[in-house]
Amino acid sequence: MLTNDELAKWDRESFFHPSTNLGQFARGEGPQRIIQGGDGVFITDRDGNRLLDGFAGLYCVNVGYGRPEIAEAIADQAQELAYYHAYAGHGSEANITLAKMVMDRAPKGMARVYFGLGGSDANETNIKLVWYYNNILGRPEKKKIISRWRGYHGSGLMTGSLTGLELFHKKFDLPLSQVIHTEAPYYYRRPDPAMSEADFTAHCVARLEALIAAEGADTIAAFIGEPVLGTGGIVPPPAGYWPAIQAVLDRHDILMIADEVVTGFGRLGAMFGSDPYGIRPDLITCAKGLTSAYAPLSASIVGQRVWDGLMRGTDENGVFGHGWTYSAHPIGAAAGIANLKLIDDLGLVKNAAEVGAYLNRAMQDAVGDHPNVGEVRGAGMLCAVELVADRDSRRFFDAAEGRGAKVVAAMLGRGVIARAMPQGDIIGLAPPLCLTRAEADQIVAATRDAIAEVLG
Ligand code: PMP
Repeated sequence: MLTNDELAKWDRESFFHPSTNLGQFARGEGPQRIIQGGDGVFITDRDGNRLLDGFAGLYCVNVGYGRPEIAEAIADQAQELAYYHAYAGHGSEANITLAKMVMDRAPKGMARVYFGLGGSDANETNIKLVWYYNNILGRPEKKKIISRWRGYHGSGLMTGSLTGLELFHKKFDLPLSQVIHTEAPYYYRRPDPAMSEADFTAHCVARLEALIAAEGADTIAAFIGEPVLGTGGIVPPPAGYWPAIQAVLDRHDILMIADEVVTGFGRLGAMFGSDPYGIRPDLITCAKGLTSAYAPLSASIVGQRVWDGLMRGTDENGVFGHGWTYSAHPIGAAAGIANLKLIDDLGLVKNAAEVGAYLNRAMQDAVGDHPNVGEVRGAGMLCAVELVADRDSRRFFDAAEGRGAKVVAAMLGRGVIARAMPQGDIIGLAPPLCLTRAEADQIVAATRDAIAEVLG
């Protein structure tokens, strides 16, 4: 086996890490951690640390680490049929079975599921479907996509454009011109503190209406949003937000894409977030929780309206010219089947609701009154603590001080992994859905003590 020093050296010299400060890493500064294994909600690293993963990887290892049921399903599939493509009507027992299982669990009104590899490519597929659909309907000018500031939808060319965070745009020549952004439903950061949630929802709706009026409804194809904003700060919407937005979209014949990459398959304490929040999606994007990240797989679930449009075009257009070598990969599908069965057998959707509510309550009790905690918020198995320099004015700390990152580092020192969200000093938690109350207590204690250490 390689020594830790050898690995660390090769890592610094050879590996181009995603979402990393490249200069720091190459110089041997900044964090480096080599992960060895995982069991339940814990991972171990090569230095022998055992850490409670309060972010489930990147909110994806929903059933927890080290599940033999999924590992065995992957091994069996690799033995029997590691790969065959899904073009021109080809399938395997694994990907056909998973398609049926996804459709059985999807919100009503869905017609078919297309499988890709990750959340970014699934959103890319959904945008292409929207454009194709409008071309078939004879309205080639109806193509713009509305996304929200602070939305996260991936980091490809189109999906990085949809993402409403500066880090993913600057120096990449993004966003592309077909993408426009509207207000984030971020009640804590509402423009006027006197606004009620209903007032703020009305404000978001008015902003959306104004954008549509300025651009022209006949140029706008779709609206994309996460039921609960994830990477943008873990922000549940204000009361009544989604039904009000949905009504605007209906009025202007704009399709709704629900990006359920984080929320799909149980994280909000419901199989999907669309139903409880009153979203009526035309397309749903899934990844992460579909396989709990045991293998890469994504799903674009296509609603009846879009499917009917595609069917109208099929005689004229022949083959649907979209697909990847690895679309519907049998190993990903085998992982997905075993994962969805585990979610059912272990009652993880219910556990996400119950232990998620417990975690949020306990966090509120432990840190909610701290003078530098602006808000504790969450939904299901998602929780965020927003740090502020001053509670009354809701003023952020100077970003250069990196208070959120310091608190997260102090949590790590107490054996708990949290995530410093990319914009604002927001500590994000998204543990595996199998979290116990005792493990939730451990997360809360580490957060409380880390905040006390860094902020007093
Ligand atoms: N959509 C959402 C809501 C996400 O959170 C993410 C990833 N964090 C993506 C899309 C992109 O998924 P991926 O990183 O698998 O491409």
